[in-house]
Amino acid sequence: MSRTGEAGRREAVRQIVNGLSHDCHWNLGPLSGIDWRVKQLRHRFDQLIERLRALAAGLPDRRTGDNTQFEMADITLSAFAVFFTQNPSFLSFQRHMEQAKGRNNARSLFQIKRLPTDNHIRQTLDPVPPRHLFEFFDELHQAFNQQGLLAAMRAVQQTRLIALDATWYFCSQSKNVHCKNCSCIRHTEGQVTHFHSAITPVIVSPSHSQVVSLRPEFITPQDGQTKQDCEIAAAKRWLAAHATLYHTGNDTFLGDDLYAHQPFCRQVLLHGFHFLFTCKPASHPHLSRWVEALEAGRDLHTLKLRVKGKSNRWEHHYYRWANGVPLTDSDDALKVNWCELTITDAAGKVCYRNSFITDWQISADNVAGLVAAGRARWKIENQNNNVLKNRGYHLEHNFGHGKQHLSSLLATMNLLAFALHTFLELSDESYRLIRAAVGTRQGFYQHLQTLTLFWHFETWESLMDFMQRGLEIGPYAVAKS
Ligand SMILES: [Zn+2]
Repeated sequence: MSRTGEAGRREAVRQIVNGLSHDCHWNLGPLSGIDWRVKQLRHRFDQLIERLRALAAGLPDRRTGDNTQFEMADITLSAFAVFFTQNPSFLSFQRHMEQAKGRNNARSLFQIKRLPTDNHIRQTLDPVPPRHLFEFFDELHQAFNQQGLLAAMRAVQQTRLIALDATWYFCSQSKNVHCKNCSCIRHTEGQVTHFHSAITPVIVSPSHSQVVSLRPEFITPQDGQTKQDCEIAAAKRWLAAHATLYHTGNDTFLGDDLYAHQPFCRQVLLHGFHFLFTCKPASHPHLSRWVEALEAGRDLHTLKLRVKGKSNRWEHHYYRWANGVPLTDSDDALKVNWCELTITDAAGKVCYRNSFITDWQISADNVAGLVAAGRARWKIENQNNNVLKNRGYHLEHNFGHGKQHLSSLLATMNLLAFALHTFLELSDESYRLIRAAVGTRQGFYQHLQTLTLFWHFETWESLMDFMQRGLEIGPYAVAKS
């Protein structure tokens, strides 16, 4: 390549890296690639609630006789409303409102005809396997797709990035609260922690803060296997069950070092997907030694870039990569492509280093994009699992364990509430404006909790309208002199 061509390419790559360095964190700024015509659709919230209600009406119902006075749809939507409003007292507030005013927000916003008691909800939902609600993930997935988000989220090589990771959603140290689906940790002092966990895959993108939740896979203990085996086994089950559903012809799985495991990589390839997994030298010593023995400039390639980091300070990004490296030392070792990024500050101090393996052929043109895609994996931890645990969803809180499926079903509803919130951020202009004015999603739901305690709203739109008026935004924005 000519010197001018080389400089041009470096500049192009530098621009990619600079763009990616200024990643957004739950900001509600302009979202690139969104088809805003779709956002004009009215009653989208109502349509989705209606769809969830239809799905809930078909859930298996083991009740008999007088015990069936409440519809399954009312019971399911009642539980969902608690997660959507992030308010454990939502139902009791609405029961009071019904007694006082003869109307309530559970009916007007969530289409719940009659409010069951919390105990009846738990008892009726306990025997329902969570897979019966999975179609609502598909409904939302389709809605995200129609919005243009999924196309806009495609990353390097025009690929869709699906991040895999496991997270806990229930834990207890009580001797009485556990079931056959619980995993457990036996502490040296004799104490036992029972927990439930699941793989919660999400579509991520280096250039979008939103993550799109896909169907989860619950991790149930397997005889004689370690936790690591369980997580990988669950990921394999997820692949086998959903490969056809999510396969678009160009999809790449992201995962931490645990997934950089030869049998799993082979499974991914067999299902027609790509992979891009973190690969730490300590857990892959053979591959690491192999790379270090390669001849620099011939088999081991490098690229140095100087780019502006998040704090607008100059950083040095040093890439190394090699194609066709054996993942293990076995005779049937899978040949993978390896890359590494080391970031140093102006003083030469190492701020970041990570390495990845992939089946994508690596070159100077795509190494920065591939590494950016690999780094987008943290979004499943930071913008999915941490949000679900710490920012209003309280995923690990014991909402109810039940004897069969209750905790998994409630966790599924929590994931669905999160996915619907994300969808509203993209599709509901009023919601976006209010969120931007309030600042955080938690703040928004705190306002919603208070408002629905005291006032009755005929529709979701009237609630949004009320909030906009109070905040003097949107159609109620006051011109500043
Ligand atoms: Zn359990």
